[in-house]
Formats: sequence, C-alpha cells, structure tokens
Amino acid sequence: MTPLWPSEPPLLFKDLLVEPEEAKSILRPQKDERYGFGFALSPYRGCGHGCRYCYVREYPNALHRPEDWGGWVAPKLNAPELLWSQRHKLHGARVFMASATDPYQPLERQYRLSRRCLEVLLLCPTTEVIVHTRSPLVLQDLDLLRAFGDRLSVGLSIPTDDDTVRQIVEPHAPAIPSRWAAAERLAAAGIQVTIGIAPLMAVHDAKAFARRAKASGATQAWVGGLRLLKQDPFYKVLADHGWLKVLDPEYKEGIRQAFEEVFPHRKPPRVPMPPPPPAAIVMPRQPGLFDRVS
Ligand code: SF4
Repeated sequence: MTPLWPSEPPLLFKDLLVEPEEAKSILRPQKDERYGFGFALSPYRGCGHGCRYCYVREYPNALHRPEDWGGWVAPKLNAPELLWSQRHKLHGARVFMASATDPYQPLERQYRLSRRCLEVLLLCPTTEVIVHTRSPLVLQDLDLLRAFGDRLSVGLSIPTDDDTVRQIVEPHAPAIPSRWAAAERLAAAGIQVTIGIAPLMAVHDAKAFARRAKASGATQAWVGGLRLLKQDPFYKVLADHGWLKVLDPEYKEGIRQAFEEVFPHRKPPRVPMPPPPPAAIVMPRQPGLFDRVS
C-alpha cells in the first residue's frame, strides 16, 4: 500500500510532527448564536503556527502536552469525504473554517485539505462560508474562493500593527506585512475581507492601524480580547514586555473606537459579485486520499 507520508518529510516541515488521522466527525455544531455560524469545520487537529497565546493547546482533543503546541499537526485525511457525506446538514447553514486550527497553516501547502473541503462547500449552493486565517497561503486558492461569489468571506487575523510584537507572540505565523498584502489581493479580487484584531496585542498607533486596515480594501474589522488559560505562561510574556495593558478593557475600548471611526458600525452595502463562469475556474487535481504526497 502506498504510504500516506513519504519516509522523509519535506524539508519545510522537518521540525513538525505530522500525524495523519482518519476523523470520525468533521462538522462541529455551534449552538451559541453569538458566534454567527452554524458549524465549525477544522481540517486539521493542532496548528503549525503555534501562537504562544493560543488557548486551543489545552483543548481536550489535543494530542500532546500544551508545551508542545505548534510542534505537531494531525491532518484529517478523510475530511473532504466526511464533509461530502454530511452535506445534507449544510442547507442554509453558515460554516466557519476554522475554529481550532488555521486552515492555511504551512501543511496545507502539502495536504490541500482545506481546499478540498472548500470544493465540497462550493457544491452546497445555500451554504455560507467564513474562512479565517493568519496566512497569505490563502491566496493559493484565490480562484476557488472567488467562485463562491457573495456567500464566502475571508477573515484575516492581524492582532497588532507591529511585526516585532508578532515575532514574539506568533513567531511561526506569517509576518504582518504579508497579511496586509493578502488582504489587498483578496479584496482586489472582489472577495469580502474582514480584519480581526484578535486577540488584541500591543498596538503601536491605533489610528494608523485602523487606516491601514481600511486601505487594504477590507469592508469590516473587529477587535477581540485575549482569552488566557488558568496560570497561563503567556502572562509572563506580557509582563516581561510591558504588555499587560492588552488585558485592560479600557485599552481594548480605545482600539475599538479607533477602528469604529474608519469602519462604519453597520455592515456597508455590498455590490453583489457574480461568480466567474465555470470555464474560468481552474481546479487542478489535488492529491486524493490514498495518493502519495511528496
Ligand atoms: S493560528 Fe489560530 S489556531 Fe493556530 S496557533 Fe495561532 S491562534 Fe491557535
């Protein structure tokens, strides 16, 4: 039988423990209406970005110790097939991709599970999709994202305007300028972009930050507070750098107001964008479930 993973992992992932698995479920129902979506869909368990504040590292389904967060990822090899088998649940639903991993973490370059899940969702015409990421890798699926027309939006997490802060709190996630570039490319392609200042980190200049978000072509922005675990070691990171202010509600409110000045509170009217004709959608064949990936 063809091995699921080559004997030598590609150099790009040589420090990452990759543990492919067959998932038992793929759609996690979200009952709390505050979240604004019906199902969360995570094609991976674990996350190669390994943000130091990430609370998912202590989720009950984590495979390793919280200290090892970012060092392992379990691609759910059957995610697209599982999603296809459950598509009847998706009529009129909104799917958030992803709540417990980044769908465009580096491993997506190899496995294309997020892409293949999106290909399934594209065939569910009444389903809305929110893709949320920290990575410009999302651009590799630009044509596919455009094919959704108005029923898909992309959220980019940009928790700070200062890449030196990012290097400390998200050392393995893409640099902030590359996220702005991704936002611009997506918006220029007619895709609705939302900037998530989440979780809020130390900000250098809130007003300039908000103007930068607006200039990227994003139509919405929101500010989300940091959620820490009990005795979270990230407290020490904040304290050592003089950033405990990010936990202060007044600090968050100041940033929120700066963004509200440039982004209208109400969702701006959106000009409907017809999807491109099918002939224009290029969908190169992606590795199948039992194909060798190298
Ligand atoms: S990208 Fe998201 S899921 Fe991944 S480590 Fe960072 S916060 Fe956690």
